[in-house]
Amino acid sequence: MGDAECIFCRIVAGELPSTQLTSDDRVVVFMDINPVSHGHCLVVTKEHWPTVYDITDEDGAAAMAAARRVALAIRDGLKPDGLNLHQSNGAVAGQVVPHFHVHLIPRWEGDDTGIRWRSHPGEPGRIAEAADQIRGALEPDRGATRN
Ligand code: 5GP
Ligand code: ZN
Repeated sequence: MGDAECIFCRIVAGELPSTQLTSDDRVVVFMDINPVSHGHCLVVTKEHWPTVYDITDEDGAAAMAAARRVALAIRDGLKPDGLNLHQSNGAVAGQVVPHFHVHLIPRWEGDDTGIRWRSHPGEPGRIAEAADQIRGALEPDRGATRN
């Protein structure tokens, strides 16, 4: 199911060009048009799932399997010093294209990607509180039913 307004749906459908690396029945992998680093590419589901909240377990598993396969190819083909897998949900988290995708971003010593976040020692009570809230909302098999 494509979304006519969605740029990734249009790429998946072949209506817009992309530099494709590989595909299977669930995902397509193509190069990012505005690369953060040399080799930056995207694993994109063929179905239009806006976020990780929407995706099926099957498409999630397919995306991760493809990400790992391409990660190995990046390791062997480009020989970076490291590699980030990155996935954003919601504008505040930096998601620009609302169609599920995983970034593969090769990293080199001293590169200027700016991929870093600030972390601080946590207050144990607050960590436990967050864990309680998440645990309380966990359901055993959410992926099978979606949302
Ligand atoms: P987000 O910020 O949503 O996680 O990432 C969206 C990514 O899609 C960005 O890195 C952006 O450069 C990339 N992108 C946006 N439009 C296109 C396009 O038309 N073609 C390709 N190949 N990448 C795109
Ligand atoms: Zn889409």
